[in-house]
Amino acid sequence: MAEQADSSDERSSWTRSHDHLASGLDGGGAADPMTVLDARSAALDEVALDLTCCGRCGCELVHPVGSERVGARHWRVELRCPNCEEGGTIVVEEGVVDRLDLLLEHGMAEIALALCDAVEEHVAREVGDWALRLEGDDVHPEHF
Ligand SMILES: [Zn+2]
Repeated sequence: MAEQADSSDERSSWTRSHDHLASGLDGGGAADPMTVLDARSAALDEVALDLTCCGRCGCELVHPVGSERVGARHWRVELRCPNCEEGGTIVVEEGVVDRLDLLLEHGMAEIALALCDAVEEHVAREVGDWALRLEGDDVHPEHF
């Protein structure tokens, strides 16, 4: 199922599917400042999380491959999906970029933790194998 590109809009399907994120966060109205701040913070979190989801294939591992400042409070962020290779750029305010950085740091920490667990499991298996070999007097040069 191929998506038909709109000839008047040459941007990627990913960029077009995330157009709604590029605006609409400036809020407005006369509400309690703390409520506005909380709502705004939640909205920024939601936008950053939405940026990590591919508009084409739904993969949740979209990540930035480049960025540049645009004006005083906005950034142009180039994103790429590792699953379908879809890419695009979007201009978002600084708060969204900060939250995106936090999401990426959290993701990197999860990867590091998973790697640590895998190494620990591998070492435990190796130690167990060596203990069995030593008990069975089954240590030969080819084991090294
Ligand atoms: Zn994708």
